[in-house]
Amino acid sequence: MSLTITPETTRFQQEVKLGRVLIVEDEELIRETLALALTEEGYEVITAEDGRKGLELLSKSHTSSHPSAPIFDLIILDLMLPYINGLDLCRLTRHEGSSVPILMLSAKGTETDRVVGLEVGADDYLTKPFGMRELIARCRALLRRHHRSQQQTQEAALRFHEIVLYPQECRVTIRGEEVNLSPKEFRILELFMSHPRRVWSREQLIERIWGPDFMGDSKTVDVHIRWLREKLELDPSRPEYLLTVRGFGYRFG
Ligand code: CA
Repeated sequence: MSLTITPETTRFQQEVKLGRVLIVEDEELIRETLALALTEEGYEVITAEDGRKGLELLSKSHTSSHPSAPIFDLIILDLMLPYINGLDLCRLTRHEGSSVPILMLSAKGTETDRVVGLEVGADDYLTKPFGMRELIARCRALLRRHHRSQQQTQEAALRFHEIVLYPQECRVTIRGEEVNLSPKEFRILELFMSHPRRVWSREQLIERIWGPDFMGDSKTVDVHIRWLREKLELDPSRPEYLLTVRGFGYRFG
């Protein structure tokens, strides 16, 4: 059996490679021209003609409860939009914790607009009228930069068997699933994972995590270890990661 490459599979491969772009722009001519140019470049393009539609698409992509929700690799946002303007959309996107690259478009070109755009979390700013080639070059640069920083985040991750801790994102996964840790639990785990097999006494843990002014007693440490075990261990009563070292304290791995 031979593999036939249909136009669909070719297009699919291009989409996978270049990414998905959301364009929120109310001027139809600009929206369609942008969509066409980016599609021809090999991007998958989704468009919204006002701020409300844009927000709808964006909020779907923020929650994992929508399996079919589009996840965007790049957002092109017009500044002046009906219902919700581009600045607010940008602010909301960042508020949700998304680091997706955002390119703002605006008919205004004063420095104030530019500064405000960048302050609310846009990565780049382009003033209308602009050339398509410049826009595409900026999109490519933003995607490249974002990809590089994602790679750096991945590289900075601490791994131990099935546990991965991302220090910059304050995020932990176990067996590929996100684990919800409190800030203290996260810092304890980060400390442990940065020093595998090192034994920590309760006093050392208190000093490192709670600080020298901590007034509570060392039982606090035991309680936090128990909570961490409940979240990380398959069987918290027979831990494989967070081990008790009798007479000394705890160690990881
Ligand atoms: Ca507009």
